[in-house]
Amino acid sequence: MKIFNTLSRAKEEFVPLEPGKVKMYVCGPTVYNYIHIGNARPMIVFDTVRRYFEYKGYEVNYVSNFTDVDDKIIQKAIEEGVDSEAVSSRYIEECKKDMAAMNVKPATTHPQATQEIGGMLEMIGALIGKGHAYAAQDGTVYFRTRSFPGYGKLSHKNLDELQSGFREIKVTGEEGKEDPSDFVLWKPKKEGEPFWESPWCQGRPGWHIECSVMAKKYLGEQIDIHAGGEDLVFPHHENEIAQSEAANGKPFATYWMHNAFLNIDSNGHVQKMSKSLGNFFTVREISERYDLQVLRFFMLSAHYRSPLNFSAELMEASKNGLDRIRTAVERLSDAWGKANAGQQSPQEQGHMATAKELVAKYEAAMEDDFNTADAIAAIFELVKLSNSTVSEKSSKTYAGSLKEMLEKLCGVLGIVTCRKEEALDEEVEALIAERQQARKGKDFAKADLIRQKLQGMGILLEDTREGVKWKRA
Ligand code: AMP
Ligand code: ZN
Repeated sequence: MKIFNTLSRAKEEFVPLEPGKVKMYVCGPTVYNYIHIGNARPMIVFDTVRRYFEYKGYEVNYVSNFTDVDDKIIQKAIEEGVDSEAVSSRYIEECKKDMAAMNVKPATTHPQATQEIGGMLEMIGALIGKGHAYAAQDGTVYFRTRSFPGYGKLSHKNLDELQSGFREIKVTGEEGKEDPSDFVLWKPKKEGEPFWESPWCQGRPGWHIECSVMAKKYLGEQIDIHAGGEDLVFPHHENEIAQSEAANGKPFATYWMHNAFLNIDSNGHVQKMSKSLGNFFTVREISERYDLQVLRFFMLSAHYRSPLNFSAELMEASKNGLDRIRTAVERLSDAWGKANAGQQSPQEQGHMATAKELVAKYEAAMEDDFNTADAIAAIFELVKLSNSTVSEKSSKTYAGSLKEMLEKLCGVLGIVTCRKEEALDEEVEALIAERQQARKGKDFAKADLIRQKLQGMGILLEDTREGVKWKRA
């Protein structure tokens, strides 16, 4: 399997630190609002990377944080007259709902910065102890960039050039810096801000240190893959490398993966979708117009390192493409139900060999730095094969195997092949079964809760002599 590594700017063969295991860290969102579909791109892309590793039999430890202490969160809390925690916990919950709706698997661990302050104080202390950091008069702690010889290796920047660049920009309040390229590890609190005690001052951590600490705590000092959007290469990931490698004395991540931007054309200017430019759609807004599976399909229709322009036309094309796959799966399901012959005919065996070649083609695309665009092209070829070779006369084995193949390949991309209604039906049936089980065990409180949950989903239950019947309200 080949992965494009931002460190070497080349595709490299994937060699895990530990055979059969992948340790992966993906920088998560700052939670002060609903996430927009630009933020959704890394979520969908790296969830797909994870799913492909799992398909290959790897055990993946996937860690993705929530940045829940930040200027923007504090600002929003002030505007609303609540504390920061109220803002961040609200948007963490909303973000988790959006992730579930996009079929992004929950991470193995979703750490939150505010819960990890102890680890940050420890790492900052260790960096000071080793001469890689220093506290200024006002209690701000800075990383001593000059002390880390590898600084710039990820973003391929030269420290001298960086410093002359920084010298142009004079920032007030940073007089305590030894060098303009030094960056903040810990900063003093301002009036009304959340703060923690520390040996240097009452204050809060800088943004970069949280990821170094959370990666170390949940994955270890060395990890296989560190990922995020390409805007994070510098300074965020460059600084994470400096902190982690200086503190731990080991290489931090073997592979650094970065997705390109989701852009949007606003008044003839194609720009990165971002909160600050105000040119964004939230995932929630898109969900009012589209099944979010369409959004997921749209995101994966391009290679993750290619910029992608969001447009209504492309979303429509994705909707049609997804529909084509779903119709094919439905037809296969039908054919399977009606089939008489169990064994494949010799002709079907020939088609099955072609289908297996298409699976190999799909895998080859995914092995080549997760080329989901080509993988989807292989899925469409499989759809075409299915549409042209499956009929009422097909054998159970042939129709069933093709259906299974399509579902599996789509599943690796996180694409659910049954239509929304059917997916909902399955969920309802499962909840009803769970309720029956609860009633059998005389757990009426739980049974009632499930009835209420179903009601919330617009499902009405009727207990009849023939069993439980349900209908949409
Ligand atoms: P933020 O909440 O801004 O820290 O972003 C969370 C994640 O979303 C980071 O990995 C960013 O790189 C990524 N991201 C933000 N905007 C975009 C965009 N327009 N396209 C792709 N990724 C983005
Ligand atoms: Zn990070």
